[in-house]
Amino acid sequence: MTVRENNLHVYNSLTRSREKFEPLRPPHVGMYVCGPTVYGDAHLGHAKSYISFDVILRYLRHLGYEVRYVQNITDVGHLTDDADEGEDKVEKRARAERVHPMQVAEEFTRRYFEDMDRLNVLRPDISPRASGHIIEQIELVKRLLAGGHAYESGGSVYFDVASWPKYGKLSGRSVEEMQAGARVEVSAEKRHPADFALWKRAEPGHIMQWPSPWGMGYPGWHLECSAMSMKYLGESFDIHGGGLENQFPHHEDEIAQAEAATGKPFVKYWLHNNMVTVNGQKMGKSLGNFITLRDAFEKWDPMVIRMFILQSHYRSPLDFSDQALAAAKTGYESLVRMAEGIKKGLLPVQEDRRTPEAYETGSRMIEKIRRDFYEAMDDDFNTARALAQIFSLQGAAHIIRRLAEKSHDLLPLFWDTFKAMAGVLGLSLGKEESAGSKEGVTPALVHILIHLRNDARAAKDFAQADAIRKRLDEIGILLEDTPEGTKWRFK
Ligand SMILES: [Zn+2]
Repeated sequence: MTVRENNLHVYNSLTRSREKFEPLRPPHVGMYVCGPTVYGDAHLGHAKSYISFDVILRYLRHLGYEVRYVQNITDVGHLTDDADEGEDKVEKRARAERVHPMQVAEEFTRRYFEDMDRLNVLRPDISPRASGHIIEQIELVKRLLAGGHAYESGGSVYFDVASWPKYGKLSGRSVEEMQAGARVEVSAEKRHPADFALWKRAEPGHIMQWPSPWGMGYPGWHLECSAMSMKYLGESFDIHGGGLENQFPHHEDEIAQAEAATGKPFVKYWLHNNMVTVNGQKMGKSLGNFITLRDAFEKWDPMVIRMFILQSHYRSPLDFSDQALAAAKTGYESLVRMAEGIKKGLLPVQEDRRTPEAYETGSRMIEKIRRDFYEAMDDDFNTARALAQIFSLQGAAHIIRRLAEKSHDLLPLFWDTFKAMAGVLGLSLGKEESAGSKEGVTPALVHILIHLRNDARAAKDFAQADAIRKRLDEIGILLEDTPEGTKWRFK
């Protein structure tokens, strides 16, 4: 497959500018997105993040890029405190529930994927677990020690920010500022307050621990992303995504670890998504306005939530409210209704009619909307504008339908354009797309059944004829007896 000519520009957090998207090794694109720490259910903030990167993935693939998409699962090493103190989040939950930490990780990994499936988020090509890559992480620590960018202290190993002058280039912070801003008491083991743990000594009672050259311990949270992204995407790759709140220290530390070890640029484009607020307030467990996806699904169709999220740009914050969701629901339902109407118009193909003028008018209309859609997506994945084009197409549907009476090939063109656009945004519209009820139905077999039914009727076996009609109806096929014979269509 060749890459479609495009004018894609992305906003790169690293250079703080909009840049033309030019992957390192086209048509290949390596993309890494920080995945969840699996100690609780995914919430609306996760939905915004992973839907945003799902659309980016879908659009890149739509353009013809061969994307390898890696998203990690953090099952060890993510502490409750950013400054390398506090408890491991997964272990904390395991202790509360009196189960093994890996049980917590396994349960919430499964639940995470279930939630993402419902939101129509494509699964990553590789979902590496931190606990499954201890060897790679220890190797990276060894490289940093050998290069003089890390030091051991009391069984833990820290990254030495003073050894890496570029530290702070992503977040734009200086090491001096970090020192002044250090809000927690700095561990006596650290030479500098901004130094961060690569490897932590396991305290007594810590369950998830491994042998290392520095004694029993576990990896620091930031380390897994550098080690696993480079393992699967190479030492330099194209896109690294994640939430804005992780730009510092997490992503800053990822860059330092990778580049200090390899001497090569780590990531070409850093993309960051903004957060979800609830009724204008930051969402947080302590604020009591924390909405898990499971709770949200009770009230709203996952596709409505997806549509709502797509209504804003990924770099903008998004305010969740029942009103906003109700509006998204109305919009989504109108698209589903239109899609159903068009599909009905598509199916009974009788004689072919084609009036060139009607085709010309209709196809020009569709083409203009299609171009505007690509322009929106090329503009740093502007889903809000792209979605507006889907509604423009919906607005044009009645005109297209009228023109299609004179030119039958307009409806298939309209439908293909509509499906492609909805597909890029990952919007599933109606049963056919999700359940695939049309799949497995072969028209030739339906015709055989229609003949058998006609034979039964001719033999006055009406019970048998009715049974055939009923069974077809049950699998979504409607028979219509017309003067020209029996016709069939999907319900
Ligand atoms: Zn990460």
